[in-house]
Amino acid sequence: MVSETMRQLGANGSPMRVLFEYGKKRAAEIGAENVLDLSLGNPSVPPPARVNDVIREELSGSMADSIHGYTSAPGDIEARLRIADSLNRRFGAGCEADDLFLTCGAAPALCACLRGLCCPGDAFMVITPYFSEYKVFIHGAGAEVIEVPAAEKTFLLDVDAVGRALTPSVKGVIINSPNNPSGVVYPRENLEALAALLRRKGAEYGAPIYLISDEPYREIVYDGVEVPWVPSVYENTLVCYSYSKSVSLPGERIGYVLVPPGAADHDAVFQAVAGAARAIGHVNAPALFQRVAAACDGLTSDLTQYAVNRDRLYRSLTGMGFECVKPDGTFYMMVKSPEPDAAAFSRRAMELDLLFPDTGSFACPGYVRIAYCVPVERVEKAIPRFAKLAAMYGLRGKTQ
Ligand code: PLP
Repeated sequence: MVSETMRQLGANGSPMRVLFEYGKKRAAEIGAENVLDLSLGNPSVPPPARVNDVIREELSGSMADSIHGYTSAPGDIEARLRIADSLNRRFGAGCEADDLFLTCGAAPALCACLRGLCCPGDAFMVITPYFSEYKVFIHGAGAEVIEVPAAEKTFLLDVDAVGRALTPSVKGVIINSPNNPSGVVYPRENLEALAALLRRKGAEYGAPIYLISDEPYREIVYDGVEVPWVPSVYENTLVCYSYSKSVSLPGERIGYVLVPPGAADHDAVFQAVAGAARAIGHVNAPALFQRVAAACDGLTSDLTQYAVNRDRLYRSLTGMGFECVKPDGTFYMMVKSPEPDAAAFSRRAMELDLLFPDTGSFACPGYVRIAYCVPVERVEKAIPRFAKLAAMYGLRGKTQ
């Protein structure tokens, strides 16, 4: 006898993972170069050179013997000091090492925040479309999920809709900007409107409503778009950050929770985050990569390839007659399905060995998500296949 909930979670991978596995199988049959996989957010740009330099320095330095040892649970103090310095320099965060809890990426950071905050009867709000794992994490914390749609077409926060859905049970709201899957970046005014609402409702309910800001794509933006530092807009923000995307280290598992000094019940919240991490088996984030993160915070991989792919895809697809949400950040783009059933559209593309998932699992039916964190050549090869799809659906574009 096993837990049926857990068995089902284990048995049913996310649609992105299923496509990714299919892509690998198909590549073995027809050659990897013929399968155009745009399914997964696995960065193809190498980390900045500094990452490998730091690893080499650390492994050959005088501390090399102790480098693989346990660190303190929130992370090595030196590493946390350096990350806090970097956040203070870059964002005026006004934080200290003891406000940071280093984790194995953003996913466990989110789980620690949700479990740390959640009391019986609590709910967490998410904005659709949202990273599908949020639901798993929120249910895992024992809370209910309240879904609120983003504004139509722009995919920005619909603050009025958030206001209508808020109740005293909502302990927190998860936001993700730059957003996976829409690529949209919330402008400052949009965040300020949300902050004003949460302050007003928190005062009315007599309890703070926390904003959980999931920021793995913070530095991945185009055309100099501003990504506001969310704790400077709303004091009760918990930041969940990851080095998976910004410096292309998804397999190394490193990120953090920041409980900013101004957050309500700061010390209790920090302890609850630490306790929740402990309860899910966290011992410490990978020791070597704590040092890498400390030395590389604020750096990014070369984003040129993503920018080239974004421009090429957006121009070509809209030119063919597809309706696309223009991404200001991340390396994802949402495309409206030319037929009501986006899963069927995705299957049609699959027949051309062009792989991308529909966004049903992001609670946003009717769209597909294209991950363009891939070599430029793959995007170039994909364009004629998109053109074939456009022709199949009888789309009329400006250029083909
Ligand atoms: N949040 C969002 C929005 C993501 O897209 C991802 C990964 O794709 C994560 C969290 C998890 O990131 P990590 O690899 O740091 O656990």
